Amino acid sequence: MKRTGGSRLSRRISERVDSIKPSGIRKFFDLVIGRPDVISLGVGEPDFPVPWRIREQMIYSLERGITSYTSNHGLPELREAIAEYYSKFGFRPDPENVIVTTGVSEGIDLALRAILNPGDAVLIPEPAYVSYKPLTILAGGEAVAIPTTPDFKPNYDHLSKYAKEFEPKAIILNYPNNPTGVTYSKKELEEIADLAIEFDMIVVSDEIYSELTYSGKHVSVASLNGMEERTIVLNGFSKAFAMTGLRIGYVIAPEDIAEAMLKIHQYCMLCAPITAQIGALEALRNCDEELDRVRAEYMRRRNLFVKRLSGVFEIRKPEGAFYAFPKISDYGLSSEEFAERLLLEKGVAVVPGNAFGDCGEGYIRCAYAVSMEKLKEAIDRIEDFVRGLRPNP
Ligand code: PLP
Repeated sequence: MKRTGGSRLSRRISERVDSIKPSGIRKFFDLVIGRPDVISLGVGEPDFPVPWRIREQMIYSLERGITSYTSNHGLPELREAIAEYYSKFGFRPDPENVIVTTGVSEGIDLALRAILNPGDAVLIPEPAYVSYKPLTILAGGEAVAIPTTPDFKPNYDHLSKYAKEFEPKAIILNYPNNPTGVTYSKKELEEIADLAIEFDMIVVSDEIYSELTYSGKHVSVASLNGMEERTIVLNGFSKAFAMTGLRIGYVIAPEDIAEAMLKIHQYCMLCAPITAQIGALEALRNCDEELDRVRAEYMRRRNLFVKRLSGVFEIRKPEGAFYAFPKISDYGLSSEEFAERLLLEKGVAVVPGNAFGDCGEGYIRCAYAVSMEKLKEAIDRIEDFVRGLRPNP
C-alpha cells in the first residue's frame, strides 16, 4: 500500500469528516453506561414519558396498520397545525413553507446545506449546541465562533464586529439556550434582527426549547419586522413532549429556502416517520395541560438547583430549557478535570463547558432533567465534592 501522507484510515475518510471532532457530550454519556450508582446530569434528555394521549394515538395508528411513507413535506394536517401553533410565538407561516423533519438535528443540517456555498461564513454565538459547528463544516461553510461569556448574550456591537470582518451568510441563534439556559427578550432579538438586515444575513433560529420558557413569552425572531423572509425557524417535539427517540421536528422557512431544503430532505430522508408525525399532531392539538405541568416541574428543579448551588458557584439563573451552566474555574480545575473527577469521585455526570466551544472553558453544564429526589442527591454530592477543593484566592 502506497502511503502519501495521513494514515490509511484517514485517507479512506473524507477530509471534511476527518476534520471534525466527536461530540464532547457523547464521551461523558459513554462513561455513565453500566453505572447505576451514577446520577446523570449529563444528557439533555427529559425524564418524563411521552404524554399518554400522544402514545395512545401512535399505538392506535399502528393497530390500524398506518405505517406508510407520507408526502416529503409531511402530513398536510400536521403542517397546518404547526403553522397555526406558531401564531403563539408571533407569526403564522404559510403551511406550504413548513417541512416536517426527523428532529431538529435534520433541520439544522438541511438549513446549512441549503444555503451555504463553499467557504461561506456562519456566525455561531458560543457556548452553543454541539452540532452547529460540525454541520456548518460538513456543509462546506466556515464556522465563526463568537464568544459570549460571561453573560451568554450576543449584542449588536459585538456581533457587528464579526459581521464586518467575515461578511457571513448566516447566524445561528438558539434560545432558550443549550447549554446556558438564557433566552432573549424581544428587544435583544430586535438588535440581532437589525444586524441581520444590515448585513444581509439569514438567521437560523433553533427554538427547540421555546415551550420551556419560564417567564414571559417566547418570541420567534421570524415574527419581527422584515425577518420572516430571512429566517429559518427550527423546532421540534424532543424536549417539551419528551419525544426524543421518535425523531420528529420541523422547519419553517421562506419559500425559496424551503424548496431547497425539501430537495435535500426528499433524497436523504424521504419523510419523517409517520407514527411520530401522528403523535406530533396530537401534541399540538391536545397537550397544553401536560406542557404546563412539565414547565412548572422544570422550574421547580431550576429553583432548587440555583438556590442550593449559588453559594458554591457563580450561576446565572436559567430562563428556559433545562440546563444550568455554573462557573467552576474558581476551584482551579479545567472543565474536563472537574467533570471527570466529579464523575469518578462522586458519581455525578455533567458535561464540561468546553464541549460547547472554547469560551465554555471554566464552566460545566448540568441538565436538571432528573427527578427532584435524584437532583437533591446530585446537589449533595456536588457540594461534598467542592468541599474537598480549595477555591482559588
Ligand atoms: N437543538 C438543540 C439546541 C438541542 O439541544 C438539541 C438536543 O439536545 C437538538 C437541537 C436536537 O434535537 P432533535 O432531538 O429534535 O434532533
